[in-house]
Amino acid sequence: MQRKLAVDSLCEWNIRLRNKFLVAGPCSVESEEQVLQTALQLAAHDVTMLRGGIWKPRTHPGSFEGIGVEGLPWLKNAGLAAGIPVTTETATPHHVEACLKAGIDVLWIGARTTTNPFAVQEIAEVLRGVDIPVMIKNPMNADLELWIGAIERVSKVGVTKLMAVHRGFSTYRPSSYRNPPIWRIPIELRRRMPHLPLICDPSHICGSRKHLLTIAQEALDFLFDGLMIEVHYAPAAARSDAGQQLTPTQYGKLLSRLRCPSPADTTRLSAAVRAMRKEIDAIDDDLITLLARRMECVKQIGSWKRSHNVSLFQLERWEHVLRDRVQRSVRRHLSENFARDLFEHIHEEALNIQEQIPPTGASEHLDPEPTSQSGDTGEPHELQPASAQVDLS
Ligand code: PEP
Ligand code: MN
Repeated sequence: MQRKLAVDSLCEWNIRLRNKFLVAGPCSVESEEQVLQTALQLAAHDVTMLRGGIWKPRTHPGSFEGIGVEGLPWLKNAGLAAGIPVTTETATPHHVEACLKAGIDVLWIGARTTTNPFAVQEIAEVLRGVDIPVMIKNPMNADLELWIGAIERVSKVGVTKLMAVHRGFSTYRPSSYRNPPIWRIPIELRRRMPHLPLICDPSHICGSRKHLLTIAQEALDFLFDGLMIEVHYAPAAARSDAGQQLTPTQYGKLLSRLRCPSPADTTRLSAAVRAMRKEIDAIDDDLITLLARRMECVKQIGSWKRSHNVSLFQLERWEHVLRDRVQRSVRRHLSENFARDLFEHIHEEALNIQEQIPPTGASEHLDPEPTSQSGDTGEPHELQPASAQVDLS
């Protein structure tokens, strides 16, 4: 379901926009000189807004926690000197009040704050009746509802200049990214809130300069409205996120290498693309039919397990299924993470289905003798494990 949100288009933000909405600037405001030099050098490139963190949410105490309120005029003046509006992160009502007093043009709510509805609500309350644009980063964890909830809280107090910022999601899995992008989440946000401007922050997704171009390009390919990129006039000396910041010159190079695709006009799609789409529709239909068949087998096995008082979950069987399906997928050039996620979802649904079967009543569907090598599981013969197993979920 799409949510109706009172949001202004970017044209109504009264901010000069050349093409995409490009926020650039240091992770942290560190000194008057640093933010001014960075802003002046950035002004030679396409930049919509100057960013700079004043209060920094750091993992460990004792790291640089931001210059604090004294940096607000440095940021504002750097923006004025370079002719660019400015933005900073606000995590408390006190931060918001200080920013409004200092004439900061746009506020953003950071990932750690979005994670906490109490904090978002407190910020929203001080924004009641204030006409200032607010950008809301996704929460640290991959929870779309929490992100939408934060956007709704700020919208409900009357803020109409709203924007979502996708900065990736923290993960416990090894990854090439500091915060993997999990694109399906911002794409679902766009589907649910199509009028809400959405930009991407490749710097915090990547955590290094290495994949910045790839992620920025992917965001533009997915029709994001812009980017937020960390830029510092001397990244090696930065007091936070040194490894992911670009010099203004590198920022200019990055922009020059990005392609901006235009929204697909369905009538312009070639016959070949339309034919492929038809094939995809047919494949999806087959997938759905197969999944329904698989779940039917799961249900029958669940009934048998219930009637024979056998636990629904058998670790050994599940480990075998997961390993086997991931290997088969990888052999077919599907990515390991995708295959793992897919079968974990399927297995979770299978357990849900079996959970719903009441624990009494013998199954009419299955041979009560569980030890035969085939025929008792309903799975294709080639997928049978070496040892006889009952669990097929
Ligand atoms: C930042 O933009 O400097 C920052 C701390 O971002 P996030 O909230 O996305 O971690
Ligand atoms: Mn940063």
